[in-house]
Amino acid sequence: MTLLDAHTVAPQTPIEADVCIVGAGAAGLALARELIGSRYSIVVLESGGLQSDRATQALYEVDTIGHPLRMEQGYVSRNRYFGGSTNTWGGRCIPLNAIDFEVRDWVNDSGWPFDKQALEPFYRQAARVLQLPDYDYFSPERWRSRLLGPLAQGLYGEAVVPEIALMGRSPIKMGRAYRRQLAAAPNLHIYLQANVTELEPNPAGTTVEQIHVATLGGDRFRVRARVFILASGGWENARLLLASSRHCPQGLGNPYDVVGRYYMEHPKILLGRIYPRADLLRSPAVLDYAPIAGGYGQLGLRLGDTQQRQAQVLNHYLQLQPGFPSGLPEARQTWQWVCSRAKRLRLHQIRRQDLRQVAPHLGQIGEYFLCRALNRPIPYPHIEVFNHFEHAPNRDSRVSLSRDRDALGSPRLQVDLRITAQEKENLLHLHRLVASHLQQLGLGELVTPDLDPTADWPGLTDASHHMGTTRMGLHPRRSVVDPDGRVHGLSNLYITGSSVFPTGGHANPTLTLVALALRLAHHLQTVVLPKTSRATPVPDQAIPNRQNQPQVAPRPLHTQATPP
Ligand SMILES: Cc1cc2nc3c(=O)[nH]c(=O)nc-3n(C[C@H](O)[C@H](O)[C@H](O)COP(=O)(O)OP(=O)(O)OC[C@H]3O[C@@H](n4cnc5c(N)ncnc54)[C@H](O)[C@@H]3O)c2cc1C
Repeated sequence: MTLLDAHTVAPQTPIEADVCIVGAGAAGLALARELIGSRYSIVVLESGGLQSDRATQALYEVDTIGHPLRMEQGYVSRNRYFGGSTNTWGGRCIPLNAIDFEVRDWVNDSGWPFDKQALEPFYRQAARVLQLPDYDYFSPERWRSRLLGPLAQGLYGEAVVPEIALMGRSPIKMGRAYRRQLAAAPNLHIYLQANVTELEPNPAGTTVEQIHVATLGGDRFRVRARVFILASGGWENARLLLASSRHCPQGLGNPYDVVGRYYMEHPKILLGRIYPRADLLRSPAVLDYAPIAGGYGQLGLRLGDTQQRQAQVLNHYLQLQPGFPSGLPEARQTWQWVCSRAKRLRLHQIRRQDLRQVAPHLGQIGEYFLCRALNRPIPYPHIEVFNHFEHAPNRDSRVSLSRDRDALGSPRLQVDLRITAQEKENLLHLHRLVASHLQQLGLGELVTPDLDPTADWPGLTDASHHMGTTRMGLHPRRSVVDPDGRVHGLSNLYITGSSVFPTGGHANPTLTLVALALRLAHHLQTVVLPKTSRATPVPDQAIPNRQNQPQVAPRPLHTQATPP
């Protein structure tokens, strides 16, 4: 039984372990799984329970200034319970491109401390953890026989290259998928409803000695470990460092005011329409999720690395979407309506008046499915362009502590997202190149509204991808963690997650952050733990009972898991 309720832990004696992981989301659980069966005792502290609850989720409330975030319209952009944001994510995955790891003169503070090759084995492993189709499907070569053969002579060229996104059969919920395996691991203890509020270093600020945990029921306890790992999400990793100001007023790992800065997103916007002149652009393979073994693949467009270097632009990416035959918004709404009902299998809930409303459009949707099934060109009058930006690192784009406090007394976050003219101008540049490419090939016309890059663009939104707030690098003046993920200046504190990305490319971040978590697990097992630790007894018996009453075993939560 390793899923435990933090309310049962007594405050007097700290829990002890070799490794303490904060957060049971994609990063924390991927890391914890790798350490199953090792001789090390692992404690995972997770703020939420097995389901979402309002009081815990409220601990995630932030104040926003800067570019508006979609959470201001009620969008839930992170989930504070077991499994983290994979409980509601879209499951779309792309590895970063090789150019994303390079130092680019035209992108301030760009460059990872290693190249893509170094991450490749962990990417492969991460694809398996996230239950994606075979990793080789990310390679255009893998698509050549099936789709790219004809397409290569058409849509793609030297400048405009394919980009492939993969999805599993359904987006994996990490908590649900791995709960049974994690619960059965004898060296792993997961505490739910355990909110980390502070990391306490030694007075010199060189080693984390213990961390403080609080429950919403008022319980408090501490955890001591040889190695601590923050895996609490792209904003929260920075928040915990900033809030840990006991011996360092500016926050832990923050002597040069870098923590929380360089916050990057993947701004996105539906902008531009392609009016196709050739059936190629109406192929379901180009416009839709193509079913492949183990899930789906989707093709998009970006500029090749060489062209990006020549034009000195960011690595933006275009996803092409069907514009429905009538071109009417109702058709799109109908499509979404059918998808949502079908997805949730609530067909019995469809009401007669709903049907009356959507009936006029069902013919078009039927036609769409028929074309798809027969792999025939779909008669869209136009194609919508969904644009995913690379967001350049920017010191002024940041999260910091607000004056307000949450229910546990911890300072809330203030989020100041900055999107500059550079990102917008680079997108317009990509549109100009793609437009001339399509025109030269006689494929169609890309029409983009005339927008001012220095102005606000209505509809330009974030993607709930929180990156860069504890960035990785060699120099403490410009980064928070070193290439292994260890916080500069602290011997035993590591961070994993998209907060360590120095740049984020255009690719959805989860595949990369899971790859980094697996890389960290490998580093801990092969380098750090053998040197620094002796296996500690797992903390079952060590868990003290409240108020000096006789010790009882901690109350286990349900360990029956949904099979993966
Ligand atoms: C609606 C939506 C759609 C998305 N779609 C995609 C997509 O298609 N592709 C993609 O790549 N990404 C997508 N993302 C982003 C993706 O979900 C995240 O990148 C990923 O889940 C981050 O993993 P993580 O483990 O770093 O953080 P999280 O998943 O946020 O996990 C952090 C965990 O830490 C816990 N925690 C936080 N603070 C504390 C604390 N103080 N003490 C203890 N525990 C704490 C949280 O409860 C949580 O369980 C989407 C996100 C959303 C919200």
